[in-house]
Amino acid sequence: MTKPMNRSGSRKKFHVRTPSGKLVTRFKKKRHGYRECGLCGNEVLGVGGRKNIVGRARMAKTEKSVSAPFGGHLCSSCRRHVFSQTAMVMAGEKRLEDVSFELRQYVQAAVGKATAIE
Ligand SMILES: [Zn+2]
Repeated sequence: MTKPMNRSGSRKKFHVRTPSGKLVTRFKKKRHGYRECGLCGNEVLGVGGRKNIVGRARMAKTEKSVSAPFGGHLCSSCRRHVFSQTAMVMAGEKRLEDVSFELRQYVQAAVGKATAIE
């Protein structure tokens, strides 16, 4: 009978052949996922990595998220791209309609935030 601790969904079952030739079932903890960028899908850095809930609770606020606009949602290269597009829109070089569809919601939010500060 499987131990109660191994019946959890957070455990992954795998089979190992022992030196004596017997096939035994072993369990290991599943890895936690990572946060993906909203635009490119790459891993977002600076958000604490693969920690469980208890591990995250012990972390400082600054370790859990990036304190830049769209930090924790977009990776640094996508963020840089959004900022450059925002600057172009605000300078009047580009219209918001000309910004690519994926970037538009982020550029729109950044422009809204920048105009609210002024
Ligand atoms: Zn990205």
